[in-house]
Amino acid sequence: MDKNIKGFKIKYAGNIYAGNINKFNYLIKYDDTSLVYNLYFNILGKEDIKELNKKLKNIDKEITIIYKNNVLSVVGSLQEIKELPDTINPILESTTEYLKSNGYKEICKHCKQVKKVYLTDNDGEINYFCDDCYKEFIKIAEYKKNNSKNAKEHLLKGVLGAIVGTIPGILLWFLLSYLKLEPGIAGIFITMGAALGFKHFAKVMKISGLVISILIGLLGVIIAHELNCSIYIYNLYKEDFLINIWDAYKSIPYYLSRDSEFKTSFTNGLSVGLILSVIGIFSSYSLYRQSIYSYQIKRIGE
Ligand SMILES: [Zn+2]
Repeated sequence: MDKNIKGFKIKYAGNIYAGNINKFNYLIKYDDTSLVYNLYFNILGKEDIKELNKKLKNIDKEITIIYKNNVLSVVGSLQEIKELPDTINPILESTTEYLKSNGYKEICKHCKQVKKVYLTDNDGEINYFCDDCYKEFIKIAEYKKNNSKNAKEHLLKGVLGAIVGTIPGILLWFLLSYLKLEPGIAGIFITMGAALGFKHFAKVMKISGLVISILIGLLGVIIAHELNCSIYIYNLYKEDFLINIWDAYKSIPYYLSRDSEFKTSFTNGLSVGLILSVIGIFSSYSLYRQSIYSYQIKRIGE
């Protein structure tokens, strides 16, 4: 179907059609949820487009034609995508013939100068840009990238932030256990909290920050589990042996070696917590990714 569009050259990012007709480059952006298409030209010429308007309304009276900020856009709708070539071809021909006979000149979308333009992906902005602007985009992107690489990660603050960040999850662990629900679910929030806390205080999360916040998160899960077991032992024996929480905590190795039932429930509880905490670790990774500036600037179809 794409090849049936006059002057069609390339389809990009799923719904952008680019081509050239009567020496004018065009872009068609099609939205498949609203079935609306937008046809664009970057041109310089007289602002009055009444004549073009009349011409195009004869083809399809439902379309809208706007010429603003050196962009001529024609907006219309389809019943289904396969109608696109038949609908757009007469519009493409009429418009470009009009532009040609009225002396309109094609310009670069960025600097608005009459120059040779190339279809370019400027970090998600797909349009026609000249070579000078293309080089400028790359330069700015490189500058931003270097700047983000040199941004300072406040490691110590980040560590404190990660520790503080585990607290809500640890409290949730106790609460879930008290309610006789699976406490391991809180493992997700402990590792997530460690990452959020680190990022918040360190400002930037580099690979060191990623590793540290994951380790603190996992340690948080172990601490939550051990404290929870201490509370369990304490509640069980506080009346008979007058022990405190610390005594209960110290006795965990004793029960692990003597009581096989305790050992099983201890290991299972910890395993569930650690397995679920992997979900929280994904959030650390996404925060790390956000900290790194990356860009994609390239000429399309070269
Ligand atoms: Zn330019």
